[in-house]
Amino acid sequence: MPQLPHKPLPLVHHPGLNTDSSRKFSTMEETIEKFKSFGLTDKRVGEIKNNKKVLGNFTSIVDYCTSKGVDSLDDKKIAMLHSLSLKSTNPMIIDGVLDGRLKTTLQLDEAVKYVNSTDSPDVKEMEKVSGVGIEVSDEEVKTIISDYLTTRKEEIESKRYALLPKVMGDVRKLEALKWANAGLFKPVIDQWFLDTIGPKDERDVVKKEKKPKAKAATKDTTKPTEERTMFTEGFLKELHKPGENPQKYPELMAHHLDVTKGQVWTRFPPEPNGYLHIGHSKAIMVNFGYASYHNGKCYLRFDDTNPEAEEEIYFTKIKETIEWLGFKPWKITYSSDYFDELYELAEQLIKCGRAYVDHSTPEEVKAQRGMKEDGTLGGERFASKWRSRSVEENLTEFRKMKNGEYEVGKAFLRMKQDLESPNPQMWDLVAYRVLNTPHHRTGDKWKIYPTYDFTHCLVDSFENISHSLCTTEFRLSRESYEWLCDELKVFRPAQREYGRLNLTGTVLSKRKILKLVTEKYVRDWDDPRLYTLEAIKRRGIPPGAILNFINTLGVTTSTTNIQIVRFESSIRSYLDLTTPRLMMLLNPIEIEVDNVEEDFALEVEIPYQRGPITSRKLTFKKHIYIDADDYRDEFNEDYFRLAPGQPVGLVKVPFNISVKEVVRDSNGHVTKLIVNYDNDKKVKPKTFIHWLPKGEVKSIKEVRIYNQLFNSENPSAHPTGFLDDINPESEIVLKNALIENNFDDIKAKSPLNIKTGGKFDIDEAGGKETVRFQAMRTGYFCLDKDSEDELIFNRIVTLKEDSNK
Ligand code: ATP
Ligand code: MG
Repeated sequence: MPQLPHKPLPLVHHPGLNTDSSRKFSTMEETIEKFKSFGLTDKRVGEIKNNKKVLGNFTSIVDYCTSKGVDSLDDKKIAMLHSLSLKSTNPMIIDGVLDGRLKTTLQLDEAVKYVNSTDSPDVKEMEKVSGVGIEVSDEEVKTIISDYLTTRKEEIESKRYALLPKVMGDVRKLEALKWANAGLFKPVIDQWFLDTIGPKDERDVVKKEKKPKAKAATKDTTKPTEERTMFTEGFLKELHKPGENPQKYPELMAHHLDVTKGQVWTRFPPEPNGYLHIGHSKAIMVNFGYASYHNGKCYLRFDDTNPEAEEEIYFTKIKETIEWLGFKPWKITYSSDYFDELYELAEQLIKCGRAYVDHSTPEEVKAQRGMKEDGTLGGERFASKWRSRSVEENLTEFRKMKNGEYEVGKAFLRMKQDLESPNPQMWDLVAYRVLNTPHHRTGDKWKIYPTYDFTHCLVDSFENISHSLCTTEFRLSRESYEWLCDELKVFRPAQREYGRLNLTGTVLSKRKILKLVTEKYVRDWDDPRLYTLEAIKRRGIPPGAILNFINTLGVTTSTTNIQIVRFESSIRSYLDLTTPRLMMLLNPIEIEVDNVEEDFALEVEIPYQRGPITSRKLTFKKHIYIDADDYRDEFNEDYFRLAPGQPVGLVKVPFNISVKEVVRDSNGHVTKLIVNYDNDKKVKPKTFIHWLPKGEVKSIKEVRIYNQLFNSENPSAHPTGFLDDINPESEIVLKNALIENNFDDIKAKSPLNIKTGGKFDIDEAGGKETVRFQAMRTGYFCLDKDSEDELIFNRIVTLKEDSNK
């Protein structure tokens, strides 16, 4: 780097000036007058006046300046001298400031450090240590920074914007940039980040660190209070600590705690008989989240005791959905893993006289349970005639069941519970039934399969579950759950029940969704109008938005009924912070700007999102497009956009456009507008509309606009069936839309294409739907999985609540 020539310096021998402030100016008034005429602001005069040492030093410095024929200075130099007066009055440094060799406070500091470190300071040496004459050009700054950032590319791709503050600090420390213009660092770093990893998105939502629980005795009130979450209040807050749930046989607890080390162990136990839906995301968060919040463990346990309803695809999809939501099962288990143990326990239950093989018909069982003609309970109850069989006979019969000697429905094992109990779950529940169906994991080994009531509590016990969390419809089952564990003398986990999450205005039942799919009302189980988690994912709703939504609802023991509009509004606020903005025209028309040349090109910069970091460039030129909806032949008070006689602004374009001529086809439809670019007068337009430059756009094969699938809030209550409540406009497909070319860049840097080495869960589980953007003034969109070489977009949600009403 070249040394700049500089003026010869006066020889200075003394380390500092005489700082007796009374020497030259006799009164304070005179001093202040002098300061002001020197160029000091009132504010600065005030600051200097208030500090005796500074006042003395500064007076001497001004004195010195005057002696050198300098009577006033610009604010920057005054600021430097003010800053100098805090530390020194060395004339060698004052000279450096006066003639501009010392330009920055950093240089000043280095110079002061130097003169203070020696008795005979030398000008050349001072200049050297304070970087005088070293110029780092803006181009050099850019190169140094981007070379440096490139060495850390992998780390930045993985940690993304979270690393930005650290990187900024590290760049400041680069030796090569010591004397460079620090004001450039941030814009250069920001631009490099944008070019390399794209604008901020859902990967940049900062996950709040879980705060360690405050120790009861030493509560530190200086620390901020713990963030409120679904785990810190309500149902989940009130749950017992591991080890605190009572046992009939307390000695079993010791072993349990030994295995779990006193941790929270939970499980999420789906039946693999369908896709998970929005309600399940609550169950997933409750189980996985509660365990993780307490540094415990959560199993994914497939409750596969009903081979008739299970299919391989459901296992895969359930696993993927859980991962997509960002949870990793500690272990994946299957109820069928325990079929041998369960069978043993069933024999044991028989042996202790607590189970019997029954041959009653379904009708007989209902009658025994006191079911009345109308299907309600409450009639007189009585025992099955098989209830009093001997243990030996029951064992023989049960083994016959096991060996396939009974047809389906001809024999089943029942628990011998308490017919006197008011709780129907104690009226001799079925434990095992004959099913002549091969099982996807155990093949045709078993002819009999255990029921939910027999299996669930025992597998919870085998797996040492500390909190068996389920929904309130199992409230009455708690008694039979505990009864069975106690009868078999196994550890009794604690079943606790929370309220379900229901979305109104849609159907969640598997049977109903299946009907919608098979009768082709929707594309498939993952149709974006449905509320299976597959569908929600495909529609482009980010997993973080779901977690956020569930968390704000909280968990109590009552059912939560949520309207779709409320769900969507929660999604919308999440997307607002995590998606870049692009311009897309759903229904473009051509605009020709009359008063500019063919090669006219004005580059305008448009931010990708709020905040200073991220913007891209678009060219305003002679041929552009606007949305047909933004033009009308006539305007009135409420219409702010383009019309003859009413100019309009184009987003970020300096001047308005106004209509000159309307070109129509033979049907009278507008095909093109010839407009004037009003660059001779700056007039504030009523509004700004979005636009695209011709030749810098991509065409979109389909934009799929989704509205609610059903008209009413309760489709299932429709008098002629839920299918008759379907909204015929639930999907609208637009085929002429255009989007700006920058979409390619957004796509290239989306989670679909930049993998962060597993740091973000969407990496593993995310697909095309992770290519998301906000179409300015139109809505939030994502790429659909059907999109191959051509673009197909789904509308995730509208920008505002009412626009689809
Ligand atoms: P559905 O009958 O709606 O298909 P399910 O309860 O039969 O659901 P499972 O596979 O047994 O489906 O559910 C796994 C877990 O998810 C269970 O613990 C269940 O309680 C819970 N769960 C199911 N639906 C909801 C819901 N709407 N809200 C909260 N938790 C739910
Ligand atoms: Mg179930």
